[in-house]
Amino acid sequence: MPASLNAQILLGALLGLSLGGLFAYLGPEASIARQGLYVCDLIGTVFIDMLKMVLSPLVFSSIVVGVANLRLHSQMHLVWRYTLGFFLCSSALAILLGLGAANLFAPGKGLSLALFTQTRQPITAQNMSLSEFATHFFHGLFVNPFAALAQGNVMAIVIFALLVGAAIVAGGERYRNILVLTQEFLELTLRIVGWIMRLSPLGVMALLAKLVATQKLELMHSLLQFIGVVVGTTLVHGFILLPLLLYLLTGVGFLRFFRGAREALMTAFATSSSSATLPVTLRCTEQHLHVKPEIAGFVVPLGATANMDGTALYEAQAALFVANLAGVDLNFGQQLAVFFTSMVAAIGAPGIPSAGMVTMIMVLQSVGLPVEAIAILLPIDRLLDTVRTMVNVEGDMIGSLIVQKLTTGRK
Ligand code: ASP
Repeated sequence: MPASLNAQILLGALLGLSLGGLFAYLGPEASIARQGLYVCDLIGTVFIDMLKMVLSPLVFSSIVVGVANLRLHSQMHLVWRYTLGFFLCSSALAILLGLGAANLFAPGKGLSLALFTQTRQPITAQNMSLSEFATHFFHGLFVNPFAALAQGNVMAIVIFALLVGAAIVAGGERYRNILVLTQEFLELTLRIVGWIMRLSPLGVMALLAKLVATQKLELMHSLLQFIGVVVGTTLVHGFILLPLLLYLLTGVGFLRFFRGAREALMTAFATSSSSATLPVTLRCTEQHLHVKPEIAGFVVPLGATANMDGTALYEAQAALFVANLAGVDLNFGQQLAVFFTSMVAAIGAPGIPSAGMVTMIMVLQSVGLPVEAIAILLPIDRLLDTVRTMVNVEGDMIGSLIVQKLTTGRK
């Protein structure tokens, strides 16, 4: 990516924040603000639509090519093992940090319950027990691949692509043409992603302007403590723990990583969707961070749906926050339940905005907390989703670098 595009994205973000502030200041009565918001909404939606357009072909082709090439290098078993190992360890670390901070700062203890009930909103998400969630999750993995591709069902596409990749490997030379075709298709898709990225400064500007202008600030006021703790710990995980882990395991420094990852982190922040960001994440991981395509093509798409440190951390903290609001003290065993369900909930959450809110029902239910409490979290979710999605995406890029170093010794 040319350096100027990085600068343009940053400029777009700053412009978007200022524009959003201006719209909020003018208020919805001012026709200029209304029209401006309409245009921002349109541009932002089209930008996300473009990223989603390339999502299904990209996930499918990158995993097929990734799996098929891994076997060629006879490292497949190692990559699998290190990838899953990293995903589990980094989420566990995130949840422990989240629980530690939530216990220490106890956000929500001072918040009056009256306010809590006032802000209650009707909730549409269905209640799911752990077993129902597990059934739903496993049932959703095996889907008609054409339906999955058409609907952008990333988890099901990942599963089918893994099978196709494995079949290509098993067939050896027999399926060589299919592999070459898929490889070329992947290159072609990445070229389109490059074109879409040229529009990203505009997309980021529009999305941030809309976000800032449409948040109900007064509602957020009383939740500032919770927001502060969540954002603070998510940033500690993303800017201290993960980079430290990266440095210790690979020797890749803070600056080198963030310079290469910047484009994807900003897109994740602006879109609040790991899946929509995936094309950019893949590009940054391969082209700026120099991870081999067969490793990035496997770790990044899988991570976009299954590796969400920010979401795991948030789910655990939100459960403790709700417990505080409800005046319930969670004991060690209950916090352990929160730990495990947060991990499953983060794996099960698709990489779309506010997905973590839906799977959080499971975490709350695991310790008998009122599911309705989600209503108080909804108004601030859009804000918190920005930072947690950024850390989710960062975890996928760091995971790729670590897996590459552990399997090939290359930085
Ligand atoms: N928006 C997050 C993501 O796409 C998922 C979540 O809601 O936590 O990574």
